[in-house]
Amino acid sequence: MKKKHWKQHVTTVILSAILFLVLIFMSGKLGMVAYASDKISGEVGTLKWYLEEQKDVVDEKEQVETALVISGKGEIPDYKNPEDRPWNGIADQIEKVEIKSVKGKDNITKIGARAFENLPNLSRVWIPSSVRIIEKYAFKNCPKLDFVTIMSSTGVDEEAFDPDVIQDVICDHMYMGRVYVADDIVMATLKKDGKCSYEIYCSGCGDYVDSVGDQKIPFIKSIYLQKKNYVYTGKKITPEVIVKDRKRKVLEKDSDYKLKYSAGRQYVGTYTVKVNGYNKYRFTKKLSFIIKPQGTKIVKISAGKKAFTVKVQKQSIQTTGYEIAYSTNKNFAKGTEKKLVIPSNKTTKKKITGLKKGRKYYVKACTYKTVKGKKYHSRWSEVKTVRVK
Ligand SMILES: [Zn+2]
Repeated sequence: MKKKHWKQHVTTVILSAILFLVLIFMSGKLGMVAYASDKISGEVGTLKWYLEEQKDVVDEKEQVETALVISGKGEIPDYKNPEDRPWNGIADQIEKVEIKSVKGKDNITKIGARAFENLPNLSRVWIPSSVRIIEKYAFKNCPKLDFVTIMSSTGVDEEAFDPDVIQDVICDHMYMGRVYVADDIVMATLKKDGKCSYEIYCSGCGDYVDSVGDQKIPFIKSIYLQKKNYVYTGKKITPEVIVKDRKRKVLEKDSDYKLKYSAGRQYVGTYTVKVNGYNKYRFTKKLSFIIKPQGTKIVKISAGKKAFTVKVQKQSIQTTGYEIAYSTNKNFAKGTEKKLVIPSNKTTKKKITGLKKGRKYYVKACTYKTVKGKKYHSRWSEVKTVRVK
């Protein structure tokens, strides 16, 4: 074999050196792809984004994923056209989208429309609880994405994901309500405070969150009916019960007390409602209310000789009869008033005699019903006047 001329060697070395220098120069210009420690990155609104190789262990195998990481405080904007997205040029590389969340700081609150649409290799997404809204088509047409975990407090547009993507909704507690379950209860009564401890559960997922001990349960100060007197209407009457503790807090029916109303409470009469403490309360109280008959009115009044005849409007349902009151005094002052009973509700006309000649009389009427020996009166009618002959 013929030896190479030394000049040939020199040429090769020089050409290699030039090529090497050119490569270094070019990589410096292109920056973004030069070294592993450099990142493809940029800004979007108030947020920062970069592409990162992330190591993860899946099924005991170490795996490297190309992740698009977005961080900062604000919203990932809506895009009408996916080509406007700053990461559109590297869409094929993205295997994972990670929305960063820094504890104790304001984070990303929205994933805008079409932000991650058409990412052919996207298979994993990390969405923290700071994200309150995921807009339309945000992850539409990402064929490798089949599963996503979403916080229960996040509003997800119906078309944010492809329909076959499984959305695993988990709770973040933070935005959920609290359910207090009393424990170790010493019941409050009508005289004495009670006490208990509470176990606190998340209203979203039902998980135990916290507990508080030795909480006072103020005793019951007042129990009364919103309204005690009613007029017969033909309908069942169920008065509202109000129960307050000594701190004037209104207690809740069915969770703090239970009610039992007496039967038949649509007819004229007296009825009861029994109030029984429940859960944290122990007491019993009976309240009563009255249903009175409907009233009547004077339809005609005519003067006679030392007499007048009064006709009342017939009121035959839930009445026994009528009562007429008359007086020479406008206010029916004590001692001046006389009363007269019409014992049948079929009799609507009554002549009252033995009156003082030429005097003016004030007249009013009501109905009554006798139930179990007790008389229930309606309200009085309007007063009419008559001057007897
Ligand atoms: Zn929860």
